[in-house]
Amino acid sequence: MFCPYCGAEDTKVIDSRLVAEGSQVRRRRECVVCGERCTTYETAELLMPRVIKQDGSREPFSDEKLRNGLLRALEKRPVSAEQIEAALSRIKHELRAAGEREIASKWIGERVMAVLSELDPVAYVRFASVYRSFQDVSEFQRAILEFTDGKT
Ligand SMILES: [Zn+2]
Repeated sequence: MFCPYCGAEDTKVIDSRLVAEGSQVRRRRECVVCGERCTTYETAELLMPRVIKQDGSREPFSDEKLRNGLLRALEKRPVSAEQIEAALSRIKHELRAAGEREIASKWIGERVMAVLSELDPVAYVRFASVYRSFQDVSEFQRAILEFTDGKT
């Protein structure tokens, strides 16, 4: 990185150590031009991305909204609280793993549908019908048929 004192393009790392119980790296750097020293801290970015809504506006990711969406779809379905929590953390993990600062609400919706389709077909169709607002009736019927087919 650039030297914050003289703006030289090269600083060398003279010391590097783990701090904050290993969640941070502290580096001492020395400018090869002016000899000044500075310290940088490096941490992994684990913040949830901001959500880009359909109309283009942004809002902070809401754990509660995601949870409520799942709970609504799974209302009166034979799915345990543990399974719901596991689904939630899986979606949040995928969101972080995407590594984007901002992410389209549509993308989140697709992830929720993928998780629900494995968890409970009825919940999937419920959620999909609201979230994706199916283009036409035949698409909706096809989604239902996909699940009713393999079932006893
Ligand atoms: Zn310098």
